[in-house]
Amino acid sequence: MHSIKGLVIYPGLIIGRARKLEAIDWDLPTTHISPSSVNSEIKLLENVINSLAQEIQLQLRELKDSKEEKDILNSHLLILQDPELISQVKNLISQNLLPAAVSIQQVFSQVQEHLKNLSNDFLAQREVDYRDVKHRLLLEITGQQQEILHNWNPEQIAILQEATPSWVSAFARYKVPAYCSEKGSLTSHASILSRALKIISITALPELWKLVSENEKLILDGLNGKVIIDPDIATLQHYEKLKANYQQQEEISISEQDVPIQTKDGRRIKLSCNLDPLSDLNEPTKLNADGVGLYRTEFLYLGKDELPSEDYQFSIYKQVAEFIAPHSVIIRTFDLGGDKLSHLIPSTPEDNPYLGNRGIRFSLSHKDIFKTQIRAVLRAAIYGKVKLMFPMIKDYQDFLQAKEIVEECKTELQKENIPFAQNLPLGVMIEIPSAALCAEELAENCDFMSIGTNDLVQYTLAADRNNSALAEYYITHHPSVLKLMKLTLQSAGKYGKPISVCGEMASQPQYVPLLIGMGFKELSVGTTAFLRCKNIIRHCDKELFNLIENTDLDHIDSIEALIFEQLKPYYKF
Ligand code: PEP
Ligand code: MG
Repeated sequence: MHSIKGLVIYPGLIIGRARKLEAIDWDLPTTHISPSSVNSEIKLLENVINSLAQEIQLQLRELKDSKEEKDILNSHLLILQDPELISQVKNLISQNLLPAAVSIQQVFSQVQEHLKNLSNDFLAQREVDYRDVKHRLLLEITGQQQEILHNWNPEQIAILQEATPSWVSAFARYKVPAYCSEKGSLTSHASILSRALKIISITALPELWKLVSENEKLILDGLNGKVIIDPDIATLQHYEKLKANYQQQEEISISEQDVPIQTKDGRRIKLSCNLDPLSDLNEPTKLNADGVGLYRTEFLYLGKDELPSEDYQFSIYKQVAEFIAPHSVIIRTFDLGGDKLSHLIPSTPEDNPYLGNRGIRFSLSHKDIFKTQIRAVLRAAIYGKVKLMFPMIKDYQDFLQAKEIVEECKTELQKENIPFAQNLPLGVMIEIPSAALCAEELAENCDFMSIGTNDLVQYTLAADRNNSALAEYYITHHPSVLKLMKLTLQSAGKYGKPISVCGEMASQPQYVPLLIGMGFKELSVGTTAFLRCKNIIRHCDKELFNLIENTDLDHIDSIEALIFEQLKPYYKF
């Protein structure tokens, strides 16, 4: 058994056997046809173009309103229907007596070569589009794809070195349920199409091609971004159970996608998504989410060759703000330090990085980098409903220092005559026990609060959140954690400030009734957990809340089984 971690493009769970798809080398030998075959080759070309155009049009209709995916397919359609290009291919067939496949290859390759030499990002992407349309035409004309994908067994998982939009479209056509690829990114055209066509997929899996053998048993765990090769019996049994539950849960959730997010007794819960710069921005809209409750920004600094400039960050934040409007997006300033270190920002090694220069402390000690981000957010905030939140705040002093830097940035932007949002709401993350204990002063002075339970649990119970050997000490619903949360909730209530829970606790359906019963009205959850959480919310009723409200937080364990019993049909995970 072997497990590799990668990036989830489209979530799901599938157990099956590997089918490796080799990249096709289109180096077709130059053969010639007889003059009497010219008409039939031209007919063949026209048929293939028509059938591909029809397929793309069908996909365009299925995509409804996802603009980015439509742009890709429309550009493919334009290439396919370019009269100049088609006549060049036809000329090669009729005048040089080349077969249709060879003519396509030669004409398209020339265009690609030309675009490649223009060293311009936009045109480089056009080159990919031409390569892809060529690939799709050649697969169709040579019948190779049909041969490969025909009679695809639904148990088979496609293994690729790198996915292309043509592979992904073909997967949709031939009902290939899932694929994984060694190379790839979440933002490539192939990934965008995979999400639009709902094909379970994971990418960026190191050494996948080498490690997987043809027909080997595989588990594609697109909930946790793992591929398990040759699983043992226990793992297999565990996943069989998980898969059955997941399918049932998904069916219920999807059927309820458009219904309001409220409990049976009519409590409206604000349910938002947690996103980061690698996320698909269409997701909150597709889910009918109430905005973005946590936008983690540290990924802009990790694994990069240079620090993100103000203009680059501005473009990213502006795009999020515009996408999510009229709902709000809470941008969290970068939470570096701990296990998230950027090689671009020198830092001294620490014995206890999680208790060291992390989050807001790191930002305050790297003021220039912090200011670059704040200026970008202030500028982007005029394009939507943006709020700014600081991570790892220990008390009011931390917040005050951060707030002063925001004011400094505003003064600078004003002087430079650069437009920015004058009234950017500023919030704090409550993830250190001291902040929860001093929540009143924070609530009085900030504009909103959000509880980061991932860290709050680790710091309250002194149990490393990443150390699986300490799992029994990392108790999310420990009374000490719940009391700190309650204290924060009461402080926010006293000053009328919005408060949400954005840590993983809110994404775990078993805790959702507890949080609502405690009085939380806003939760922000991972996109893959969204529909399950919504489903739980919709099945919570007054009796359950009464029970939670009347139970001492010290004895919450006593009603855990009861909560579970009542909602068992809705959360099987
Ligand atoms: C948290 O600590 O709960 C949180 C949301 O922040 P992160 O997981 O990014 O530390
Ligand atoms: Mg945190």
